[in-house]
Parts: sequence; C-alpha cells; structure tokens
Amino acid sequence: MFNPVSCTAMAPLQLGIFGAGQLGRMLAQAALPLGIRCVFLDAVNQSPAAALGPVFSPDDMHAFVGQRRLFTLEFENIPLSSIDALPEAATIFPPRAALAITQNRLLEKSTFDALNIPVAPYRAVHCLTDLQNAADQLGLPMVLKTATGGYDGKGQYVVKTAHDIARAWETLGTHGPLIAEGFIHFEREVSVIAVRAQTGDIRYWELAQNHHHQGILSHSVVPAPNIETLTPIAQQYMQQLLEHLNYVGVLTLELFVTPEGLLANEMAPRVHNSGHWTIEGAVCSQFENHIRAVMGLPLGETDLIKPCVMVNIIGQYPKREDILALPAAHLHDYEKEERPGRKLGHITLMPPKSEELPALIKQLIPLLPDALALK
Ligand code: ATP
Ligand code: MG
Repeated sequence: MFNPVSCTAMAPLQLGIFGAGQLGRMLAQAALPLGIRCVFLDAVNQSPAAALGPVFSPDDMHAFVGQRRLFTLEFENIPLSSIDALPEAATIFPPRAALAITQNRLLEKSTFDALNIPVAPYRAVHCLTDLQNAADQLGLPMVLKTATGGYDGKGQYVVKTAHDIARAWETLGTHGPLIAEGFIHFEREVSVIAVRAQTGDIRYWELAQNHHHQGILSHSVVPAPNIETLTPIAQQYMQQLLEHLNYVGVLTLELFVTPEGLLANEMAPRVHNSGHWTIEGAVCSQFENHIRAVMGLPLGETDLIKPCVMVNIIGQYPKREDILALPAAHLHDYEKEERPGRKLGHITLMPPKSEELPALIKQLIPLLPDALALK
C-alpha cells in the first residue's frame, strides 16, 4: 500500500535570477519541471516573472541571496556592483568577465577582433571631433550607438548625411562612450544560439533568420533558409567565443549575412528573443538548457523538431481566442501592460507540414494589431 510517510521528495534546487522580465519568466517555466525553483531580483514592481516566484527589490539583496549559491541573469545590463555584492561562496553564470565585455560594445568589438571574427568597421567616439573623423574614415551612412545600455535599437542614430553629424552628437553625446559603425547593407540577419555546460560540452540550435521593424525584432524564421554553408562558420565563431570567455550558459551571436560572408553584430550573454521558438521547436529549449548548464546538469538535445516561425506581439495584444483558433499556434502572453514598441508576448507557428507555414502567417497577420513587418 502507498505510504506517504516513507515517500521522500527530492528537495527543490534554488536558483537566483537577476531580472524578472519575460526571459526570467520563461527560464523559471523551464526550471519548474526539473524541480528547480527560481527567485528574482528586479527594481520593477509588476514583473512578468512574479507569477513564477518571489521578486525581491534591489534594497532586499540579503533576502534574494538567502542560502542560495547559484545565480544567473536574464538581462546583461545589471550593474556589476550587484554581482560583486554576492557572497564569496556564491557562483554566477555566465561568468562576470563575459558580462563586463557584453555590457560594452567597444569591449565586445575588440573581443571579436582578438578572435579574428569579422565585424563592421568601427571607431570609438568620445567627442564631436571623433565623430567627424569617424564619418570621414567609415563614410556615410554610419550608425552611432551608445557603447552601453542599448537594447531594441534604443541608443542608436543612423547618420545619413553630414548634416546629421551634429544632431547625432546632440542626441547621444551625453550618453557616455559611443561607437560609430559603418552601415552594413546586409542581405539578411541571422543569429546562432548555443549553450556551454560546466564540463565544456557545447550544443548549438539551428540558425534563425531575424526580421526587424523599427529596430525591434518582429519575427524569426527557423531554420534560416539557405544557411548550410554559413552554419559551420557561425558555429565556429560561437565556439571560439564560448571557450575564450570560459562561458557557462546560453550565448547568442547576432550576425549580418553579406556577400562577403558573415559579420558579427553583437552578442548577448543570455537566452534571446530569436530563440523563443526553441520552446516548442527544439527537443530542449534555450531556457531549459540554460538552467541545466547553470545548475551543473547534463545538457539536452538541441535538434529542431519542425520548421517554425516565431512572431513577437508588440505594443498591443491580439485577441487570445483568435490566436488559439489558428491551427498549430502557440501563444506566450507575458502579462505586460500594453505600450507602443513593447514586447508583450510571442506566438510560435509550427504546423505539422512546413509547407503550411506561409498560409498560417497570412492568417495571423490580420489578427495582430502591430504586424507591419510581417506584411
Ligand atoms: P537588439 O536588442 O534588438 O539586439 P540592440 O539595441 O542591441 O538591438 P543592435 O543589434 O546593434 O542593437 O542593432 C539593432 C538593429 O539595427 C540590428 O539588428 C540591425 O538591423 C540594425 N543595425 C545595427 N547595426 C547596424 C549596422 N552597423 N549597419 C546596418 N544596420 C545595423
Ligand atoms: Mg541586436
């Protein structure tokens, strides 16, 4: 007979996550079935991750740390001082050094350079004269970006003509160090996402082709079409980065496809929007494998189950029942307040036959209030 007294459950493992947005939420959703509970640290009051675990404010670092020994993050722009405030016995993955580099586009670019990973030509900009010199050397158009703190295309200015130079400086000159990049007339954008375990084991997911609208990721197509010859090169860049950084966890590398080959745009030391398709589309998702890597567990297989398209819900929610009435549509609602340009959720379309994808996308477009880039 079943005797509940003699039945001892495995004690849940605990993981602290810096940040409590949708990435933290999806990390915790993946952690739960593995018997891993997450707690979060975030300054924002109403967080998407709050449904999955307690959210501590930065004033309550002590409670956030508690007895926990393992930490990770959902957002690279957390202050390094917060990481330094962790007790000595605590471990954070990805490693601090990887964060310091990915928080600064100039350090990131010099890391790519050191590993011979090709990038757009660039110049550091600290004053208006630097910016003028950059325009002379790189030519116009060029993209001026803040070296730190940018996301979703924020903190960027496309300098199209000589008249824009002073305006670009006025707009971004007070935002700390800047980087000017040659404007790349790329054919398309792709990303490679990989995970590295504490043992050094590395797994890669299929490359995604990413489409942006007004600087924000609109949708990702997986696998990226005609990518066979570029995949080994992207994976080689990724392996170099992972090993150079002695990395543990998920790392994303955004790449421009040009007639001359791949150029690295930037990397993100975390799970990435262009990898959300892995929840349904891969044997083990980016979220679960990040948890596995950070917790020192064996990695899961990253194979593609079926071609799919991930579409972001931006600014305004569609009707839940309309989306769910579509065949083979998976809805992820982050429970955020609607705001123009804000990522509120995503939908992954994964029909049994991939030939059905274009028709399904056509059905989805009129249901999304903000689907300009899909049209
Ligand atoms: P995200 O958070 O979406 O990754 P971000 O704010 O970190 O964006 P980037 O990835 O550097 O910034 O730039 C956003 C988009 O702007 C790129 O995906 C690309 O479409 C365009 N872009 C950036 N740099 C260049 C460049 N040098 N030449 C042409 N287009 C560029
Ligand atoms: Mg980017």
